[in-house]
Amino acid sequence: MRIHSPESPRWLSLTRYPVGVSCSQAHALEHRQMGRAARLGKRTSSLKLRISKGGFLMGGVFPASMLDKGLQDLQTSQTAISMNCSLPDRVLFSYGMDRQRDRLCLQSLWDFVTAKEPWIKSPFFPVLFSFTAYMAFCLPYIVLDFASIRLPNLRKYKIQPQNYPTLGMMVPCIIQSAYHHVVLIFPVTFLHWYWRPMSLPVMAPELPEVLLEVAVCLLLFDFEYFLWHLLHHKVPWLYKTFHKVHHKHVSTFALTTQYSSVWELLSLGFFAAINPVLLGCHPLTEMIFFLVNIWLSVEDHSGYDLPWSTHRLVPFGLYGGAPHHDLHHLKFKSNYAPYFTHWDKLFGTFTESHSN
Ligand SMILES: [Zn+2]
Ligand SMILES: [Zn+2]
Repeated sequence: MRIHSPESPRWLSLTRYPVGVSCSQAHALEHRQMGRAARLGKRTSSLKLRISKGGFLMGGVFPASMLDKGLQDLQTSQTAISMNCSLPDRVLFSYGMDRQRDRLCLQSLWDFVTAKEPWIKSPFFPVLFSFTAYMAFCLPYIVLDFASIRLPNLRKYKIQPQNYPTLGMMVPCIIQSAYHHVVLIFPVTFLHWYWRPMSLPVMAPELPEVLLEVAVCLLLFDFEYFLWHLLHHKVPWLYKTFHKVHHKHVSTFALTTQYSSVWELLSLGFFAAINPVLLGCHPLTEMIFFLVNIWLSVEDHSGYDLPWSTHRLVPFGLYGGAPHHDLHHLKFKSNYAPYFTHWDKLFGTFTESHSN
């Protein structure tokens, strides 16, 4: 919930905690966020105000320089809270300043996400999030596959225009992906949910921090998958047992992205999940990284080299993208990295794609 302060262009971001959240839990959440900011060497708030009144818990974080103004705004917000919150929820509000616009722009997104906290914390969320995002990212390419058969203007973007997927090729991919999500990914995420329940901080991360951490997560994932992939091509037993399934389609289409063995799917899921944990990423950063990672892997297998494809947006040929990975499925012996080109260039396994 956001309330615009009438006296000032600054606004207050309010996060309502459900009744089940105790005062100490709310405190701990905010402390964790402040500790994280301190670890990252950012300006930490110098004063915390916390007032319990009429069944509400209200807290504010104010920098010392803004203390006087902060106290005035606290009065304003108290009135606002009294007016707007009739539920006996405990309320914690965080105070934003103009110069924190980057944080604030993500704060409204984060407030929107945390408003669905019980659903996000449920054991079903990760599996539904992953499957829905995957199918949503595949859908435009499925439409493109059917449309470009009839429209020559679209066909020119197809990397292998002589090969089009049929419905009979797509359906088994969808069934296999749904099956893997239910019998494999769900039990794993359920165990994760049981042993390491998710906690949602009050404050959103800052935009530059999100961009940097997502980029680092992608680079780490790219490196881990490059090594895994290279090993599974160099060791015949590993290739035959685990990776061959993914190479069933020499001409890829979006739904072949997750057409792979159980071991491959689990390995890639592990690489994707461990990097944000190692970097101590904010849950919002983690969600954004998962979305970007799913999108890029679908684009890799889409079979299309569109004018806005990621490899055209990243300069100096640093990013391989769909043409790079398409060539891997076609030739088998090169282009092992999923996204970037530097590891293949360093290891001498890089092959120039048609578009480059
Ligand atoms: Zn391969
Ligand atoms: Zn592939």
